[in-house]
Amino acid sequence: MAEPARKVDIIDARPAFTQAEADALNARFDGVDTLTMLRTVFAEGLAGNVAVVSSFGTESAVLLDLVAKADPTVPVIFVDTLKMFTETLDYRDTLIRTLGFTDSRVVAPDAAVLAAKDETGLRWSYDPDGCCEIRKVEPMKRAKDGLDAWISGRKAFQSVTRQNLPRFEVEDGRLKINPLGDWTKTDLEAWFEAHDLPRHPLEAQGYLSIGCEPCTSKVLPGEDPRAGRWRGWDKVECGIHSPISPIPVADPDDPANMPVF
Ligand code: SF4
Repeated sequence: MAEPARKVDIIDARPAFTQAEADALNARFDGVDTLTMLRTVFAEGLAGNVAVVSSFGTESAVLLDLVAKADPTVPVIFVDTLKMFTETLDYRDTLIRTLGFTDSRVVAPDAAVLAAKDETGLRWSYDPDGCCEIRKVEPMKRAKDGLDAWISGRKAFQSVTRQNLPRFEVEDGRLKINPLGDWTKTDLEAWFEAHDLPRHPLEAQGYLSIGCEPCTSKVLPGEDPRAGRWRGWDKVECGIHSPISPIPVADPDDPANMPVF
C-alpha cells in the first residue's frame, strides 16, 4: 500500500493585518460613536485576538470603561516597570474591580536583564531611553506576543507628537486601535462625570500625565499636559508607540478599501 502523502506544515508568516485592512476599518467606522465601534469590533471578531493596554493614568478610566461596557472579558494588560507610584497600583486594582474586568494581566521587566543593565535601579537618571527599553518596551513586546491587535488610549490632543492619530493603524503587522484618538479633553471630562468614574488619586495634586514615579512631575498652568513627563530631557515618548503616520484618505468606493473580513 502506498504511503500516505506526508503532511507539510506551512508557517504562515503574513502579518495579521495590512494597512489596507486598517484603512477599510477607518472608512467603515467613520462617524460611528466609540462605544458602538468597540461593540461591533468585539462582536464580529474584527480585531482577532485583542487586548487593551493601560497605564492606569489620569485619563485611563474612560477607555477602560468603554471597553468594559463593550466586552469585560477583553484582557487588560498593565506594564509594571517596578517604578510605578503606589497610587497607580491601587488605582489599577480599583478600576479592574469596579469596571468588572475578568482578565487582568501584568507584565514586568525581566529580572536577569534588570540585574545586568540596571543593577542600581538608577538607569532612568542617566539613560531614560535605555531604562524605558528594558522596563517598558521589551515587556510590552512580550505582552503582545500572540495578539493580533491591541487597544491604546492615545489621544491626538495630548501632544503635538500625537496629531493625525487614526482610529486604526498597523504596527509590526498588528492592528493598533486608538478609540479615543479624536476625543477632546472636554469629551473625557464629560464621560468621567456621566459615568461617575473614579479619579487617579494624584490628579488633584497637579499630575496630569502619570508614568513612572522618577520621571513624572506636576504640570504647571498653561503647560502641555505631558510636560511633566521626563522633565528636563528632550524625551517625549517611552518607545512603546511608533511615530504616527498621517491618516490615509480611504475612498470607500474603491474595492481595495472594502472590508475583507
Ligand atoms: S519612565 Fe523613567 S523609570 Fe520608567 S521606564 Fe522610562 S526612564 Fe525608566
